[in-house]
Amino acid sequence: MRHVAIVGSGPAGYYTAETLQKAEDIAVDVIDRLPVPYGLIRTGVAPDHQSIKAVSRRYEGVALADNVRFVGHVSVGSDVTIDELVELYDAVILATGAPNDRPLDIPGADLPGVIGSAAFVGWYNGHPDFADLDPPLDAPGVAVIGNGNVALDVARILAKTPAEFAGSDIVTHARAALATSAVRHIHIIGRRGPHQIAMTPKELGELGHLERASPRVDPADLPPEGDDAMLEPGMRKSVTHLRSFTANPVAKPVTIDFDFFAMPIAIEGDGRVQRIIVERTTLDADLRSHGTGETYAIDAGLVISCIGYQTPPIPGVPYEHGRGRFASDEGRILPGLYAVGWARRGPSGTIGTNKPDGARIGEMVLEDIGRGAGKAGRPGLDALLASRSVVPVTFRDWRRIEEAEIAAALDGNPREKFTSIEAMLAAIGR
Ligand code: NAP
Repeated sequence: MRHVAIVGSGPAGYYTAETLQKAEDIAVDVIDRLPVPYGLIRTGVAPDHQSIKAVSRRYEGVALADNVRFVGHVSVGSDVTIDELVELYDAVILATGAPNDRPLDIPGADLPGVIGSAAFVGWYNGHPDFADLDPPLDAPGVAVIGNGNVALDVARILAKTPAEFAGSDIVTHARAALATSAVRHIHIIGRRGPHQIAMTPKELGELGHLERASPRVDPADLPPEGDDAMLEPGMRKSVTHLRSFTANPVAKPVTIDFDFFAMPIAIEGDGRVQRIIVERTTLDADLRSHGTGETYAIDAGLVISCIGYQTPPIPGVPYEHGRGRFASDEGRILPGLYAVGWARRGPSGTIGTNKPDGARIGEMVLEDIGRGAGKAGRPGLDALLASRSVVPVTFRDWRRIEEAEIAAALDGNPREKFTSIEAMLAAIGR
């Protein structure tokens, strides 16, 4: 029997398990710190993007296979160490994602009201770590830093009316706070221009169909239309959306302004954020941004930096600090230790990008471990956890938690997610 442990039950973890599970004589344990599975699908993908979240049904199929087991509410690092896992399993695969924000390294970034997207997204998605965030929504201005899809998610969620959350699984605390929000002017700040955005067309297009908000682009920021011809088709479509936003009058109560060629250089405020100072930029031949010395201020009571994520390092595991991911040779970190998904590649690509990644790392592991080295595997982990009085949450337990969440759903929404570990465990009588 071959024993594989996957740390992290998000898309990368379950796509890897899907490949491994098809092999003979294998037992796969998918370990997660939370009592609930699916990682970013549950706590990262926007609550109004239910069609993307539906992929969890595919992971459920993998989780229910005889040779796959969910080991929830077990924290690698405190309940069991990586070294112990490597001792117990033929292969340990880190599928821990990139849950930490890249730091916004400018003066004033530590003022109250400056929040990273991991925290803000975790808050509206009910991640237990961020349920108490209570972001300040009492001022009309919000600055959203970054020109990626996370910035779009954040701006859209801030702009939506309560009715526009129908059918979503946004948690009640976020829906209630957003319903009484004073936010009226959202600025999406990009240090480069419309041809350098990391946004995808579908997500940009959505901004054009919001009930009470208009996206606006200054036509002076757009390059001549003929230049769009050299863009790849997806990017061209995105830029076409941006061009359509130049025509928007201020007809709706909420504005979403794209501030292009604007590099945040300082955040100011008396005891909390009140404004962000940006410097106008130009691009060099390599399309890198440089400040021009000209600055302006944007009033904001909340600043959300959406500038990418990092994988938290683990002591003893090689790490690339510059790129915020584990150091690996195409996925092999050390003998018996692998990385997959964002923990391997860094935070790029969509959920689907993890499918070929998981398949490749799964095949690599199968090739490397051969028939297995007779390690203790699953029973060994169970004995170790029992000796520490750690009682894992099983997949069957998770389904009871999920049933309770579905039963608690409000206003026709698909579920009301529990936002604390205590509430999740209470649903299974613990
Ligand atoms: P991202 O796509 O890497 O975008 C990060 C943005 O932050 C870039 O515009 C970058 O600008 C900017 N940035 C970085 N450092 C900065 C700084 N110091 N000051 C100002 N701006 C800075 O990251 P993301 O939006 O977090 O998304 C992560 C991944 O998840 C992406 O692959 C994304 O497509 C995916 N995602 C997909 C969806 C979806 O499909 N619906 C939703 C959410 C996320 P430069 O280009 O100038 O560096």
